[in-house]
Amino acid sequence: MKQHTFDIAVFGAGPAGSGSALFLAEAGYRVALIEQRAFAKAGPSWVNAVYAEGFSKIGLRAPEGDEVELADFPVTFFSADLAERLDVAASGFTNVRMRPFVDRLQRDAFAAGVVGFDLARFEHFTLVADRPVVARIVQQKEGHEGEAIEIKARLFVDATGIAGSLREQVAALRLPPAAAGDSDLCTALQQNCHVTDPAAAAEFLAARKVAAGTLISILGTQGGFSTLSVQISPDLSGVGILAGSIKEARFLTGTQMVKKFCEEHPWIGAKIHSGGGTIPLRHPLHRLTAPGVAVVGNAANQVFSVHGSGVMPSLQAARLLANAVADAADPGDEAVLWRYASAFQQSLGALLASYDLFRRFSQNLTSAEIAKMFRYGLMNEAMMLAGIRQVMPEPSLTSGLSMLATGVRDPLFAAALVRSLARMPLVYLHYQNFPEVPDKKKFAGWVAYAKRLGV
Ligand SMILES: Cc1cc2nc3c(=O)[nH]c(=O)nc-3n(C[C@H](O)[C@H](O)[C@H](O)COP(=O)(O)OP(=O)(O)OC[C@H]3O[C@@H](n4cnc5c(N)ncnc54)[C@H](O)[C@@H]3O)c2cc1C
Repeated sequence: MKQHTFDIAVFGAGPAGSGSALFLAEAGYRVALIEQRAFAKAGPSWVNAVYAEGFSKIGLRAPEGDEVELADFPVTFFSADLAERLDVAASGFTNVRMRPFVDRLQRDAFAAGVVGFDLARFEHFTLVADRPVVARIVQQKEGHEGEAIEIKARLFVDATGIAGSLREQVAALRLPPAAAGDSDLCTALQQNCHVTDPAAAAEFLAARKVAAGTLISILGTQGGFSTLSVQISPDLSGVGILAGSIKEARFLTGTQMVKKFCEEHPWIGAKIHSGGGTIPLRHPLHRLTAPGVAVVGNAANQVFSVHGSGVMPSLQAARLLANAVADAADPGDEAVLWRYASAFQQSLGALLASYDLFRRFSQNLTSAEIAKMFRYGLMNEAMMLAGIRQVMPEPSLTSGLSMLATGVRDPLFAAALVRSLARMPLVYLHYQNFPEVPDKKKFAGWVAYAKRLGV
């Protein structure tokens, strides 16, 4: 059997894995990147909206050229019955074509010295005193028998997406079976199509009083969490449709929502591309590392759950991991990896977990209650921009005039909202107090209190 030795082996070549491999190679490590599909098919292949300002903060060139479909467009949010609306003039979102973007991350990683193994699936670990030291992979090149290969490394990074393939083989990281129920998963599909009748597309926009290029986001047609977004290109030649809903039998799936919308609008023509999958919505994993293993991206639930956005959080996590292990004699050492866990939980973890309370509150709302959020001014521009930029909302948003007005008009609804929002700053504070060092007792106490706060 072939054997290779690296400092670090990263599994999964989506944004989290390709970004991690790049940053870790730039930090001077000998890195392997292992992907079960062909590299050219790894990770998302559709269009994702990403808040572009984040890239400079993690030292990554922002998407450019053919990686960008459209930048800084307006967004109009609608209630399900289209009766209520909220216009956000400049969202700061960039529609990123993920295929060329992930290709670039991989190219830069290989140029930095990363060694790639594609069509190669993680099988299992060899453990020494509970620490993985060798990963066995099986590489299945076209027309050949699968070849087993042993990868020896001091750190194994799980960036295998929602599968969490490595995580599930490490006792300290394995999720209990009930940890992620279907109500914490979103099924989503993004599809781009030609527009066959530009005049009819223009009528569709005129009826909603929005300009071409605006992202129309209809909230709550399939339960409180769901969204159906439609964006007709400025030249009326194409349309992008994104739909997502909670993975429960009573709701249409993202795929069904897109299909239904296309059938109802005959001006939508042939599909250009589409892609989809399941997005984990639950707060980030409490435990992100074990000796010899770190988890990043969807595998760690590092997703801004309110709108199911995982691209920027996974790249931010990749950067924090590379910073934490830089210059370490053993990048898989428990205390070294804990620096990544604490840096993540104290910053991004605090944000993602706080917002997850709001996601859970809003997904239980009916379409009519979502419409109330618009009417009462609770769904306002500042709140939506905080969500897009992935920052905490200003305290005035949760204790301000609109909240008071809601309390007067609809005390029961206001009470439920306050119960949920009031915990957000508590959760944020608690995550900021994530233990700095791997102290079992302190960590257990931290987890217990997080659970009491509902995250
Ligand atoms: C339809 C849709 C729309 C979305 N829209 C947005 C958006 O607008 N903005 C945004 O920020 N996010 C969006 N997301 C979420 C975003 O795409 C994910 O959060 C992001 O891709 C996560 O990256 P990742 O690298 O962690 O995982 P993935 O992209 O899932 O990559 C994991 C990789 O690991 C590989 N792998 C799995 N198992 C193994 C194994 N055993 N061995 C080797 N390799 C393995 C997989 O083949 C895959 O290539 C959307 C998701 C969907 C489905």
